[in-house]
Amino acid sequence: MLDYIDDKLYIEAVSAESLADQFATPCFVYSKSSILDNYRAYTDSFPSPHRIFYAVKANSNLSILRLLNSLGGGFDCVSGGEIARVIQAGANPKQIIFSGVGKSETEIRTAITLGIHSINIESSGELDRIEYIASELGKDVRVAIRINPDIEADTHSYITTGTKKDKFGVAPLQALELCAKINSWPHIILVGISCHIGSQISSISPFVNALEQILNFVNCNKLQLEFIDIGGGLGVTYQDETPPAIKEYANSILSILGDSTTYLIVEPGRSIVANAGVILTRVEYLKNNFAIVDAGMNDLIRPALYGSYHNIIPASRNEDETHTYNVVGPICESADFLGKDRSLTVKPGDLLAIQSCGAYCASASSNYNSRPRPAEIMVDGENCTLIRKRETIEQLWENEQCDV
Ligand code: PLP
Repeated sequence: MLDYIDDKLYIEAVSAESLADQFATPCFVYSKSSILDNYRAYTDSFPSPHRIFYAVKANSNLSILRLLNSLGGGFDCVSGGEIARVIQAGANPKQIIFSGVGKSETEIRTAITLGIHSINIESSGELDRIEYIASELGKDVRVAIRINPDIEADTHSYITTGTKKDKFGVAPLQALELCAKINSWPHIILVGISCHIGSQISSISPFVNALEQILNFVNCNKLQLEFIDIGGGLGVTYQDETPPAIKEYANSILSILGDSTTYLIVEPGRSIVANAGVILTRVEYLKNNFAIVDAGMNDLIRPALYGSYHNIIPASRNEDETHTYNVVGPICESADFLGKDRSLTVKPGDLLAIQSCGAYCASASSNYNSRPRPAEIMVDGENCTLIRKRETIEQLWENEQCDV
């Protein structure tokens, strides 16, 4: 998706400079073909009856949801807001899975009323709440129990979700108790077992371990299921990670499933959009070893939150001498860095592209320091479309009361 032509950076067939001129900086730019390629790698590798439910949290822009909806995909949502977005994007409720540890009564009521594909249950209390609402509404609810397999996923501790110290899912013994409850309730139908051990996992073995445990649980307890949901997808390359190809990962997973009639659900987010997006940002000032740019941690929280690495490249390449800079934003926090110790040739006014910003960046952005959130643009060949306007200053306080 990114290429230099005559030392000028292009996103598909549009130059980074022309995008910055047209839409100003900072801005998010996504490549449509890159999103489509990444998505199709999953649908090709997990053919029907297996199903892909895109994890909306990775990037919830309506245009991206609409694009994936047009390919017939499903959606994994973790809030009432995400469910509403997906419906707004034109999805059928039957394409929605509802995950998350803290589903509110209102959110569960909405999900049941809509008749979504299924709810991933994370606790006994949540199951009780679902049963009570389903009985009150007189509706049947399809559920999957999320098992916590107690597996180290070899990723950052903040995005590890499948060990027993994490808040997610239930232990296998507890899952059995939930199965018994479900069997005794007419409105609740157990259709699946789910599991999500973490994100940005770059090797196959943790997924294989998790699936083996789940299959063991299903077989030992003679559960008749429609599907097994193995959670998020593979990690991506931010710096020097070498995740396997989606096909290789899918072959390993599908070979464990054997000739079972149970289909698989995969909920990839990061690997669909992360490397399909960049942030374009201009250098405001150079000071000591700092390159101070106009994007900040409110636009890109990952380096401050997880110490994540994002490659930073110039929009115009030249042969001048490089210097080592910490690329930092304008926010009043020393955690506001976008890249440390980067070799760059830059001067104020220069345009930079921060790579791998399609996932967990715009969707995790905020207004901290009263900064309007950036514009988002989708590039498709030579065309570019504004898919989210830059917030205005007035929008910063539009929900606030001035009369107290
Ligand atoms: N499914 C669930 C339940 C998740 O919590 C997440 C993210 O953490 C995902 C899917 C998406 O994971 P990834 O972006 O690594 O594919």
